[in-house]
Amino acid sequence: MPMATGRPPPRRIRSVVVSILSQAQVSARRESFVAALTAADLAPIVDLVVWVEVDPSTDAPVAMAASHAGRVRLHDDGRHQVLEGLDPIASEDPMAFLPYDLERAHPGPRSSRENSYPYAASRILSLFADPGRSPDLAVMHTPRHFFPDEGGHVGEHGSLDVIQSRAPLLLSGAGVAVRGIVDGHARLVDVCPTLAAMAGVPDGDLRDALGDPLDGRALTEYLGGGRLTPPKVIGILWDGAHCGDLLALAESGELPGIARLITNGVALRGGAVAQFPSVTLTNHTSILTGLGPGRHGVLGNVFYDRATGERVVPNNASTWHRSAEWLRPPARTVFEMVNSVVPQGNSVRTACIDEAVDRGADYSTMARVRDSGSSSGTAGLNEQLPEAQSSVHLHDRAHLSDSYFSWCTQVDDLGLAQMRQLWASPDSAPTLTWWANIVSDAGHHAGGPRSEIARSSLRDSDSRLVAFLEHLDGLGVTDQVTFLLTADHGFEGSDPDVTGSWRPALESLSIPFRDEGPGFIYLLPDPEPGDGVGS
Ligand SMILES: [Zn+2]
Repeated sequence: MPMATGRPPPRRIRSVVVSILSQAQVSARRESFVAALTAADLAPIVDLVVWVEVDPSTDAPVAMAASHAGRVRLHDDGRHQVLEGLDPIASEDPMAFLPYDLERAHPGPRSSRENSYPYAASRILSLFADPGRSPDLAVMHTPRHFFPDEGGHVGEHGSLDVIQSRAPLLLSGAGVAVRGIVDGHARLVDVCPTLAAMAGVPDGDLRDALGDPLDGRALTEYLGGGRLTPPKVIGILWDGAHCGDLLALAESGELPGIARLITNGVALRGGAVAQFPSVTLTNHTSILTGLGPGRHGVLGNVFYDRATGERVVPNNASTWHRSAEWLRPPARTVFEMVNSVVPQGNSVRTACIDEAVDRGADYSTMARVRDSGSSSGTAGLNEQLPEAQSSVHLHDRAHLSDSYFSWCTQVDDLGLAQMRQLWASPDSAPTLTWWANIVSDAGHHAGGPRSEIARSSLRDSDSRLVAFLEHLDGLGVTDQVTFLLTADHGFEGSDPDVTGSWRPALESLSIPFRDEGPGFIYLLPDPEPGDGVGS
């Protein structure tokens, strides 16, 4: 439109962002960060630095990893091209530190050369596949690193390593082959297609009709015949439950609910490998969409969105009910997949208990939070939770002095109450019910794996599972239900003597950056002269 005459020319709008970094600038600055982070004095707290660059031989993105020991290029075909020093990814064995006695004998502290990082290339590539949200590089804490001042705990997870990435995986009940504990493993992206297959979603729908193929696959090798019509599937998540300890406690008779599921099905000794980072919301989303983070969009519990300039915190009591806002277009939840093949009728086809990633579910706890209009989300509804002190599933009242454990006890008791309501009668029960439990995350964060509080949290969760199985027994339908039980990540114990931060080393470079998590490093454009340097 021509400008009206007589007006002064428009003043040029000054943008805070005056330069978008070129690819060459990103590479050069990333090199400075990698050099600072892999300095020998940070080796006690920095396990690995990972990123993706263009492979000069193929022009395709390729995963990179470096530590103070050396640097490696991880090719898609599994080849490790060592570029400097020693290969920091010495093993990718998903069955490392098994049988469980091996992990118990060598708990926690290990160097990257003694550790294992399953599916390293594909998991790193996925984290860096979202141009708007992926960091420019990711820093991994050593298993020993204790960083309470930056959000760390006694028990920790988030790493690419095998123990923090190993979640339990059990299949049980109608249509599952009875094999007990087997020497196998799967991946958490396999959970969505497996639940969908159990619930009757045709294989063709999973592979083709989605347009974008899933990253996971249905674990049909563990499904026998005898599928019931109509199917009734219950997926159960115990947040952060340690795979090795869960199976060991079940074998020793301390977790009768888990033992009963194993007796009627199969448990994988190597569990299911989480996506990287092995944090909660990234993996809940992978579990329920079958996609890695680079495709579903929930890159971490905290990440930065370059397009909106927003710091996104999806794993928070005030934001869980908003999870659908962060899903990228390829993501379709298992609830949407199952609803597409089950006639609507009047009944609840899919239900989602105490779970953030609920898009499409006919019944959902988070929908109740949204409908309540609570401005602070779940956090605004705490007064509606049952008393933790009066929980009949609590084994040790002393653990209620941990406020997170206490709140999780309340939430999990309300979760069981919702399960009983949804399953009041077998006829009205959903085709797919997803039931998330969280006290196991509190127990393992507070004391680390094998601690008394971690084991107590598993016993509490098992008590709720037993109560629900007895409810199904009362209805006479337990053997008509197919179960899947898993977690979103594993846990490793830190060492209170290994403290410190990599932040001063990065700040000394005088290169603008953000560090979210901490561990996701985003390079920022140079500020205009006169603006403060962002960090
Ligand atoms: Zn978790």
